[in-house]
Amino acid sequence: MRLDKFIATHSEASRSLAKVAILSGRAKVNGVVVKDQGLKLKPEDEIIVNGQLITESGEVYIALYKPEDVLSSTGDDEEDDTVIDLVDGFTHKELHIAGRLDKDATGLVLLTSDGKWSHRVTSPKFSCEKVYHVTLIDPIDEEIVEIFAEGLYLRGEEKRTLPAKLELLGEREGRLTITEGKYHQVKRMFGAIGNKVLELKRENIGAVTLRDLEPGEFYELDDAEIQSFL
Ligand code: URA
Repeated sequence: MRLDKFIATHSEASRSLAKVAILSGRAKVNGVVVKDQGLKLKPEDEIIVNGQLITESGEVYIALYKPEDVLSSTGDDEEDDTVIDLVDGFTHKELHIAGRLDKDATGLVLLTSDGKWSHRVTSPKFSCEKVYHVTLIDPIDEEIVEIFAEGLYLRGEEKRTLPAKLELLGEREGRLTITEGKYHQVKRMFGAIGNKVLELKRENIGAVTLRDLEPGEFYELDDAEIQSFL
C-alpha cells in the first residue's frame, strides 16, 4: 500500500492531512523521514507520523514510567495527576490501563486502546510475568523464597497465590516475579509473612521493560513488543 493511503487508513488523518504530514517531513518509515507520498510499503515497515506509531489495527500501545503519587486511573481526578494526564497530547482513541499500580508505587504501566490485547496482558490465564523491585521494612528471611515459590494464602482468598519467584538482592531488597495481578498482591504477599513493603517499582511486564525512561516519560511499543503478548 502507498504511504499516504496507509496513514489515512490507519489513523484519524484524512488523505489530504496525511499528504501534508508527509510533505512537511513529519512521517518516518523505519526511522527515516520520507517525503514520497506514493512510497510502496512492505508489511514489516514501521511508520511513525508526528512521533506516533501507526499500526495496521489503528490501535495504540504505550509504556509509561509512572512516578509516585500519580493515579492509575483514566477518569478526571481533580486532586491528583493520573496516568492519562502524563500521556496528554496523545490525541488518539480512548486508552485504558492494562494492569494498575498503586498510587505510591512506581514503574511500568501499559496503556492501550486494544481491549483484547490488554486482556492477554492482565488475565491470569495467559500467565504474563510481572517483575517488581521491592524494598521492605524488615530483613527478608531466606525461607520466604520457598514460601513464595509454593504459593501462600492471602487474607480473603480461597486459593493460594500461584508460584512466584523471589530473588534476594539485599537484606531488605528483592525482585519478585508474579503471574497474577490480585489487588495489592505484592504488598499482601509480604504482609502475609509479617513484613511490609516500603517501596514498590514495576520493572517489566512480559517482554516490555522501562527501557531508559525517566519517571513521567513514555514510549510506544514496537511491533515485537505488541506481538509478544499474542
Ligand atoms: N502489587 C501491589 O501491592 N501493588 C501494586 O501496585 C502492584 C502490585
